[in-house]
Amino acid sequence: MREEAILFAGCKPEVAAFGDRIVAVGPRARAAAGKKAQVVKLHGTAWPGLIDSHIHLEGLADRKLAVDLAPAASLADVLKRVKTWSKDLPKGAWVFGNGWYNDAWPERAFPNKEQLDSAVGRRPAYLRRKDGHSAWVSTEALRIAGIDRTTADPPGGSIDRDAAGEPTGIVREMAMELVDRHLAPATEAQLDEGLAQVLDDLACLGLTAVHSMDTPRGLSALQRLRAKGPLPVRVTYNLPVADLAYAERIGIRSGWGDPWLRVWGVKAFVDGSLGSRTAEMLDGTGIARLTQAELEEIADRCAKAELNVCWHAIGDGAVRRALDALTPHRDAWRIWRPRLEHAQCVNPKDMTRMAKLGVIASMQPIHAVSDRELADREWPEVAKNAYAWRALERAGVRLAFGSDAPVETADPLQGIEAATAWRKTAKWHPELALTRASALRAYTADAAYAAGLEDDLGALRPGKLCDITVVEDGKVEATVAGGRVTFRRKRA
Ligand SMILES: [Zn+2]
Repeated sequence: MREEAILFAGCKPEVAAFGDRIVAVGPRARAAAGKKAQVVKLHGTAWPGLIDSHIHLEGLADRKLAVDLAPAASLADVLKRVKTWSKDLPKGAWVFGNGWYNDAWPERAFPNKEQLDSAVGRRPAYLRRKDGHSAWVSTEALRIAGIDRTTADPPGGSIDRDAAGEPTGIVREMAMELVDRHLAPATEAQLDEGLAQVLDDLACLGLTAVHSMDTPRGLSALQRLRAKGPLPVRVTYNLPVADLAYAERIGIRSGWGDPWLRVWGVKAFVDGSLGSRTAEMLDGTGIARLTQAELEEIADRCAKAELNVCWHAIGDGAVRRALDALTPHRDAWRIWRPRLEHAQCVNPKDMTRMAKLGVIASMQPIHAVSDRELADREWPEVAKNAYAWRALERAGVRLAFGSDAPVETADPLQGIEAATAWRKTAKWHPELALTRASALRAYTADAAYAAGLEDDLGALRPGKLCDITVVEDGKVEATVAGGRVTFRRKRA
């Protein structure tokens, strides 16, 4: 860490830091920084560094290791992207991709292996269709998988064949596994490189910290990156409930680590999702992924181990059961900050109770934009209280905002827009929209609180870590984490 004075000048307010901490803000900043300070000239409004409270870093890194075909508008476009993406791969490496969607191309027909070979040559290639129910593979991939004209369709799957009985290069449902199982998992070096790019991307979006929902594979990669040099974004890691027993055994507690990389909560799934119609609703529909006894046991063990909980609960039924399980643990220990992830449907009767129990609503405003039609169609009564940011705020529930990327874009400015102006322009229960100040608080001070970092992050104030997001004309101008510039927009 550089132990020197630095002045972030030209932005409003100006900020002086020494090393990685803020020493003065506003009119006093220049004097506090002194004449010898390094000066970083910026333009725009300086906000406390934006924090994403729910993100999947491994999912984002895995996308970097595959070619994204969702934006392609035609077969030729897909082939061009595949060709560009695979040209620097080592010999024999698999070409892996996602998101092609022939229903949206002018040609519509399913593509074939010869077309794919024209882009990848003799490499094995496996490209999953947008819906995940079929894959388009190259001649070499078929050869490696041992699929030829004599191969029978596996139970629950099919191999497309031409008039002569030759596989065409499309495998469906369970037949995908015949190829899938030969795909080499990403190496550590590939994962690290993908993850490093992801963290840089997040800094470009104005993020200075994230709360990740990952597995030990992601945590290991973060530690390797951290050993190589400073991270551009702070990461608070939430572990899957499957690893709770290990955390208990080694005695790890929420907050272990430092503000760059630390451990916080235990992630468990109470129910499913709106999109797959598996959200557990009070009307009895949906799927309960954990029984009440299991939830109670997890709450009990986490409270004893001084670990926090981050429970995925989307339906109003799941939210109520989660609150029931958390009720006996109110103030379980000094920094007990239970969170419900998503909390998309909260029955109004449960809102005050949620606030009294100190349960944080970790929500992703951008989900509302995608789910609005579905919610109106499937659960018209519930939709009136869905994504109820303002009602929750009024009931005293603390909101921590995030993106759920890669499910949605990680761009926090789009999230702020969704939580504020969008609800009004879309005329979707506009009374539930937040003010800009409230939305910003959910991405800064309250997001910091939701990971027990409120003493260090979430405000531009002397003594806090120097994390700043500078915004001008609706665009991120610069990002600063720990007094270090992690992104700067190029000026024309
Ligand atoms: Zn998620």
